[in-house]
Amino acid sequence: ANAALFQAQKMEALGQLTGGVAHDFNNLLAVLSSSLDVISVKLKNQDDLRLLESMQRAIERGSMLTQQLLSFARRQPLQTEVININRLIGSFEAVLRRAGNSAIDFQIAMGAELRSVEIDTARFEASLLNLVVNARDAMPNGGQLAIITGNVDLGDGEVNQLPAGAYICVTVADTGTGMPPDVASRVFEPFFTTKEVGKGTGLGLSQVYGFITQSGGDVKIDTSVGKGTAIHLYLPAIERSMASGVDGASDEEHPSG
Ligand code: ADP
Repeated sequence: ANAALFQAQKMEALGQLTGGVAHDFNNLLAVLSSSLDVISVKLKNQDDLRLLESMQRAIERGSMLTQQLLSFARRQPLQTEVININRLIGSFEAVLRRAGNSAIDFQIAMGAELRSVEIDTARFEASLLNLVVNARDAMPNGGQLAIITGNVDLGDGEVNQLPAGAYICVTVADTGTGMPPDVASRVFEPFFTTKEVGKGTGLGLSQVYGFITQSGGDVKIDTSVGKGTAIHLYLPAIERSMASGVDGASDEEHPSG
């Protein structure tokens, strides 16, 4: 319990610090960006224009990073809806594939009759993207990346502290570098990264972990050096039967009285 408290206090302090810095930094980037816009109209030389473009791109990247930091710092309330994760992955597949590269064999295996979950879809998509980017980074020479979904019935405490019940599991597996135990045990810590400066923030997995546990689920890591890594996201299923809702939309029932 002490460790949990310490972690919570650490997160709180980090949140305040990063929130403040990210906010001010974002404002500075906005000033830079609009100044560059003004200059770009005056430039005629192609080389100068190209230079300006690469500056704009660097600013965009910087502002993406500060957005990440801000969303980490804010801990916004979740905006949940009842959805089928298979359907979400289907509509997000193109984006996920683009995050890979040509040397990576990308497979999606969706489990049949997947139970519905209640979740913040935007943040779930962001989590998936985080996991796919990590998997890609772990396979610089290519390999296999798989997203697998399925129903699971868990016993009490079978996965960390989760109570027994009906869950779904979404796995992102790669055949990459894997992690030694001293890395695997720290990956949920904010700012823990083994990537070079500018390539990683160390916020990806800590955000995924925070979001999934906030959603009533949990995250499990199976990893083996030289073989690869599988990250399992467990999410509690909606108990209520959705069998009647073939189109999913007719599922909102509000009994009157
Ligand atoms: P970042 O990707 O910015 O470093 P993360 O929190 O997403 O931040 O990941 C933290 C660290 O965990 C990574 O730097 C890497 O060492 C390790 N890691 C995460 N995913 C994988 C993976 N699929 N394979 C190997 N190592 C991984």
